[in-house]
Amino acid sequence: MMKFYADSMLGKLSRFLRFFGFDTLYRTQITVEEMLQVSLAENRIVLSQSKQVIHQSNKQKIQAVTMPTTTIVDQLVELKNQLNLDYALPPFQMRCSMCNNELEERTKNEVIDKIPKGTAKYYDVFWECEVCGKVFWLGSHWEDIKKIIKEVESR
Ligand SMILES: [Zn+2]
Repeated sequence: MMKFYADSMLGKLSRFLRFFGFDTLYRTQITVEEMLQVSLAENRIVLSQSKQVIHQSNKQKIQAVTMPTTTIVDQLVELKNQLNLDYALPPFQMRCSMCNNELEERTKNEVIDKIPKGTAKYYDVFWECEVCGKVFWLGSHWEDIKKIIKEVESR
């Protein structure tokens, strides 16, 4: 499976890629040079909106894709076209949107103390990140994601 390093400004895209199960790092605290070093060592594809970063990547023989500066749909379409990405719907191996760790599937009983009461009433399937403790479920946010995937697939 392809692995990515998303440049700063691509936080939303990195959350989406993690959601689809792609191992994706997001550049926040480190320099471009460090990002390229890690990408080279770990065989990560660099995603950036900066021509300079793409140029630097190419010079170091790191695969890099220029991301549109417009919308998340445009960015996902561009990745689909360039790399043949498949945005599969759950169930699949999701990753934590916060820390990129692989999520574990949980039953309601296992996470009952960690979720809002209303949520427990309406959902049965949950995922938990063992690194940061965040619990995920296919809530109202999920409808927005489905809409975006549909838009991507129609292009
Ligand atoms: Zn996490």
